[in-house]
Amino acid sequence: MSKLITEKSKKAFAEAQTFIPGGVNSPVRAFGAVGGTPIFIKSGSGCCLTDVDDNRYVDYVGSWGPLILGHAEPRIVKKIHDAVARGTSYGAPTEAEIKLAQLIKEAMPSLERVRMVNSGTEATMSAIRLARGFTKRDAVIKFEGCYHGHVDSLLIQAGSGAMTLGTPTSPGVPLDFIKHTISLPYNDIDAVHEVCERRGKDIACIIVEAVAGNMGVVLPKKGYLEGLREITRKHGIVLIFDEVMTGFRVAPGGVQSLYHITPDLTTLGKIIGGGLPVGAYGGKKEIMDSVSPSGPIYQAGTLSGNPVAMAAGIVTLEILKDSAIYKTLEEKSNRLAAGMEKVCRDAGIPAYHTRLGSMLCTFFTDLPVTDYATARKCDTKRYAKFFHGMLERGFYFAPSQFEAVFVSTAHGEKEIDSTIDAFREVVKGF
Ligand SMILES: *Cc1c(COP(=O)(O)O)cnc(C)c1O
Repeated sequence: MSKLITEKSKKAFAEAQTFIPGGVNSPVRAFGAVGGTPIFIKSGSGCCLTDVDDNRYVDYVGSWGPLILGHAEPRIVKKIHDAVARGTSYGAPTEAEIKLAQLIKEAMPSLERVRMVNSGTEATMSAIRLARGFTKRDAVIKFEGCYHGHVDSLLIQAGSGAMTLGTPTSPGVPLDFIKHTISLPYNDIDAVHEVCERRGKDIACIIVEAVAGNMGVVLPKKGYLEGLREITRKHGIVLIFDEVMTGFRVAPGGVQSLYHITPDLTTLGKIIGGGLPVGAYGGKKEIMDSVSPSGPIYQAGTLSGNPVAMAAGIVTLEILKDSAIYKTLEEKSNRLAAGMEKVCRDAGIPAYHTRLGSMLCTFFTDLPVTDYATARKCDTKRYAKFFHGMLERGFYFAPSQFEAVFVSTAHGEKEIDSTIDAFREVVKGF
């Protein structure tokens, strides 16, 4: 296997670093966790990416989740073109915003009212403000390893036990900003129960990735989500499902539809923007009506509900109404996951595999991964070998062990089978 030629990417990365901090506009793109220099992309089509050196890759990042229909899906591209020609932003309401809200509510009935924003971060930040304003309480519970965007108060590293205060994970976040945040281990319902019994009356909300996708894919234990619902109801705490990744990914109705749990608020992003920058938060009418201008809790946005982004989101969600899409995605994803699992088994490579619909993960570890602590036990050096081995063979996986593999409708059986074949070669070098 010849080494990839990536001269132009290397040159672009060197130049990018003279203008952009670290050469990238979002840190994980920089390959810091796997070493090497990032590949600069020229174009995407279907399940493939082409880099500036004209290497082609089968892409399993899918822009980190949004591209469930693949790159440059012709129907989405057409709607974006049409929308652009009518003007890119008006700063006044449009019917497209009603349409996208309607499509979201049809798939996720718990979102009785929806407010559009521009990113997942903005959605979670706004949902937390709303929960605090609505309950007139300050404290927030989040879980270790769950990512909700770069919201100040959520950039927290848990203390050593539920009684100790956490510390900020980033300079620039004052201790005072996280003093109302309680970080608990994911999948540990007793920890939630204990904290809520003690100080339930202080807690505004619990925010959770109902199926976690930002420490690799970690599934909730049986009864965990039901437990969260029960405890929050008992203490009058707002339950926020962060479905920025899982909404329309695992099913049109997200994790809440698969587990039959109705959160009070839900945050969305990624797929609902069809590849353009969109986020949304929504939920119970009584809570959402506290948002300005119908209520006192302020939240606004110059480009929120942007007509081009709405057009991309509408066509995407309309296409996704076809339930046959999720059936095919399930088959393809299962084919990939089962194939990767077999490669590991045959080669005697310790690995723990997780999957829900078209998001999946191969953890290089011999222990089950159920939370952040167990995820951290993975062999990240082995993951780096996996990543570079696959990249050299033309398969673009996330440059970090702690991310999901995303399958899109554009992935064919042929590409999936060649991915498995390449993986079989790569493990020989482990
Ligand atoms: C990606 C993601 C976010 C942040 O969304 P951005 O659009 O990157 O701000 C929040 N929550 C979850 C669960 C995510 O996966």
